Parts: sequence; C-alpha cells; structure tokens
Amino acid sequence: MRQLGILGGMSWESTASYYRLLNQGVRERLGGLHSAPLLLHSVNFAEIAELQRRGDWAAAGELLARAAQGLQQAGATALLLATNTMHKVAPALEAAVDIPLLHIGDAVGQALQRQGVQRAALLGTRFTMQEDFYRQRLAERFAIEVITPAPVQMSEIDRVIFAELCQGQFLPPARDFYLACLRTLREQGAEVAILGCTEIGLLLEGVDAPLPLLDSAEVHVAMGLEWLLGS
Ligand code: GLU
Repeated sequence: MRQLGILGGMSWESTASYYRLLNQGVRERLGGLHSAPLLLHSVNFAEIAELQRRGDWAAAGELLARAAQGLQQAGATALLLATNTMHKVAPALEAAVDIPLLHIGDAVGQALQRQGVQRAALLGTRFTMQEDFYRQRLAERFAIEVITPAPVQMSEIDRVIFAELCQGQFLPPARDFYLACLRTLREQGAEVAILGCTEIGLLLEGVDAPLPLLDSAEVHVAMGLEWLLGS
C-alpha cells in the first residue's frame, strides 16, 4: 500500500478522527489486520493560531512546508493537510515538496459536484468564510456558489471554533447556534451546508440538521483513502 503523510494538530481533536477514519476505511476495504500506512506530523496548534491571529501567513507557510518536507523524506508519497484554514498556505507547501497535496477544497468540490449542488452554505473559521482561497477554488473549479452567514454570526462561529471545538468542548449552546445559522442559510437558498472546518462535524454529529451536511473532514479522508488504496 502507498504511504500517506498527514499534517495535523490543527486541531488534534479532528486529526484524531482522521487517524481513526483512515484506519477504519482500510480495514473495511481490505479486512483482517490491514491498517493505514501513515506518517503524522502533528504541530503545536497554539503556535499556528498565533501566526494566524497576527496575519503572519508566510511564517505559518514556512513552518508547514518544513513539516511537509520531513514527511516526504520519511517516505510519504502524498500529503493530507488536516485543516481547511491552513489551505490558505497550500501554494507554499506545494512548492516545497515533489509529492501531491490532496487538497481539501477539491475533496469538497468533487463531492458537491457529484451531488449536483450549485449553491452551498459555508461554515468555517473567519479566514475560510471570508477570504478568497477556499471560496474561489469552489467557484472556479467546481462552479459552486458559496453563501456565508451574516458578519455577526460569522464572528460567533469563528469564536466557537477556537474557544471551544479546538479545545475539545462540544456544547449544546454552540450546537443550537450553528443550527440556527443553518436555518437562515437554507432560507437564503443553500442546498447543502459545507462543514468547512474539520471540527464542526464533531459538534454536529447525529443532529437533525435543517440542511444536508457535507463534512470536509469526511470527504478529505475519503480522498486520502482512495490515494492509499490506489496503485
Ligand atoms: N480545523 C479547522 C479548519 O478546518 C480550524 C483550525 C485552523 O485554523 O486550522 O479550518
């Protein structure tokens, strides 16, 4: 089997799901004692979040590019960057290695396209919701129109991600707030909601949501599995 490198820890709450889901996927496909050949570089998320807050994306890109090189040297033949937000620095990372980065935006875009979706709501960090790197990729490569919550809702969604979800707290008030945002986005014409932050799926697991949910972590893992099991 091929060997996959994961850049994780952003946060480790969702990286733990990536690890479990990749291994479960290999077991389901190959059975027996088969498990996923993985290399993991897990960062200290406090350092990354501080660079995000300061807007020092160049330093964050360098840090992740060095980690990516380490994974390549250790034998990874492709990379999964287990966060939506840090795909803002995907170009720096791609330039630093010779192996492919399995882009989370492509995993999401391909899944939406398969479902015939044209207009999708996007929940994620303020960077993912507001900046171009994610929305533009969905628009240009997959012709998906992305709609986002109102600014005041975006701030609260973002606050919950850093103050609660990335710290392992998945609480009912946050869940209710996210569901209320989804109801508004449905009224605005969204057909599906992209959970464009890898921890949101952990908050909304098993809920009765007003819109079909597309979990970026889930489709990203599926893309990683295809790579692992490909020849
Ligand atoms: N895991 C989150 C994401 O998918 C947020 C943490 C981060 O800022 O990287 O965007």
